[in-house]
Amino acid sequence: MAMMQPVTSSPGDSRRHTADEVKVRVAVARRAQPAFAALGVEKRAAIMRRALDLLLERQEHFIDVIVRETGRSRMETLLMELFPACDSLAYYAKHAGRLLRDESPSLHLLKTKKLVISYRPLGVIGVITPWNGPFVLALNPTVQALMAGNAVVLKPSEVTPVSGKLVLELLTQAGLPEGVLQVVEGDGETGAAVVASGVDKISFTGSVATGRKIGEVCGRNLVPCTLELGGKNPSIVCADADIGRAAKGSVVSAYLNAGQFCCATARIYVMDSVADAFTSQLLDYVKTLKQGTSGDFDLGRVIWPRQLEVIERHVNDAVTRGARVLTGGARNREVGELYYQPTVLTDVNADMQVMREETFGPVLSIVRVRDEAEAIRLANDTPYGLAATIWTRDQKKALELARQIEAGHVCMNDTSLTYGIHEAPFGGRKQSGLGQVHGPNGLKNYCYAQSIVLERFKAGQEEAWYPYTQQKAEAMRKVMRLVFGSKLGRMFT
Ligand code: NAD
Repeated sequence: MAMMQPVTSSPGDSRRHTADEVKVRVAVARRAQPAFAALGVEKRAAIMRRALDLLLERQEHFIDVIVRETGRSRMETLLMELFPACDSLAYYAKHAGRLLRDESPSLHLLKTKKLVISYRPLGVIGVITPWNGPFVLALNPTVQALMAGNAVVLKPSEVTPVSGKLVLELLTQAGLPEGVLQVVEGDGETGAAVVASGVDKISFTGSVATGRKIGEVCGRNLVPCTLELGGKNPSIVCADADIGRAAKGSVVSAYLNAGQFCCATARIYVMDSVADAFTSQLLDYVKTLKQGTSGDFDLGRVIWPRQLEVIERHVNDAVTRGARVLTGGARNREVGELYYQPTVLTDVNADMQVMREETFGPVLSIVRVRDEAEAIRLANDTPYGLAATIWTRDQKKALELARQIEAGHVCMNDTSLTYGIHEAPFGGRKQSGLGQVHGPNGLKNYCYAQSIVLERFKAGQEEAWYPYTQQKAEAMRKVMRLVFGSKLGRMFT
């Protein structure tokens, strides 16, 4: 197996590609795409399998690079980046052929015809990604777009450019043909240049504010886009929940990646009858968490200073308006400038920034509620609709409550796992996004479904063709009555 050439730039070492340079990269990708599509899905799958082998073999190198840029623990990098990246490569290598196979549903009416639905690549996909999952959030859409036969122009976050470039390093070493994957570097200006460059689709993951801008441009240019945006995710703890598991699971769900996780639990609505026991067990678990920079630790740093400012602003606003800090509430300067203590707030209300806006940090708010109806009302009182969690021993109740929550995905008795389940459609409701990835249609969304209508039986004279006559109109009425107005006809349509 070929030795991997490691990326050489250091963290934060990013250049900015201009709009003209972006256009050149898009043109290169466009030239490379037809031959890549012509390879066929099995040859593309073989490239992904080689990438998977390389990733397993060189995992320490990948972890080194990501840890250097994000300050996460190695364990969390394995859990949140390497494992899902392996799964993405393995899943699409194995299943893309089946998912993208031509379909030929039998027709309910025009029995003389045969319909073939063919999933054709769109062309060049612009993939724009954030810093909080810098490798896997760039790899996953890229793998899907490529498996569907597209070329990709990837613009990773300027905050974590080196981890983003690992995708190019990995796939190039795995044998991806030259030109098919282009990486452009830079901030929002370069991202905007990708959106305006004439690509055939934008696959965006990031904030609501940027998603809105991208959606506007895509709408104007009639370019399809999927927007995977932020969340302010609720969790409901029912009176019958396993309180120990709910308390521990809520802590993990809130502080994964130091809270810089789009599906992180931010607001917990707990039934009054179990609120004391739940809160006390949750605080006990929080006390066991270690923040650190090396060796075994649980919570890493906030990835960049701008996010730390948001976290501090939200907590200070909440405290000024009467929130009580049960633990944390400040930076952990003993560990380093960018570390924020795992924080639990209570006595919060819907006017506080910490309850209304995405904090994207290790901050959890607990609200006591009378009953499940109140929990649902408060959980839905947000412009976001990404993820939610329900803690109960009753599966039927979990399903009923889930259906009342305005969120793209809901998990029972666990952290938010849905992004890791490729069979599950993933996407936000309300301001948390537009469109869905994964699921049976996720891969197909990187294609256009071309309907090809073939002749099944050789047709004779076409009654509906010219010349139009009264006689033909009468015959058509008869057919309509027979097909749509009779019991027999309705059995077949
Ligand atoms: P961001 O919106 O600031 O930036 C995301 C990407 O967009 C970056 O690469 C950035 O350079 C680029 N960009 C900025 N302005 C642009 C413009 N005008 N046109 C095109 N591209 C532009 O987001 P972020 O701070 O990097 O990431 C954090 C956000 O991402 C959070 O809101 C988080 O919830 C969200 N997120 C969502 C999901 C999901 O699947 N729903 C997953 C991870 C992160």
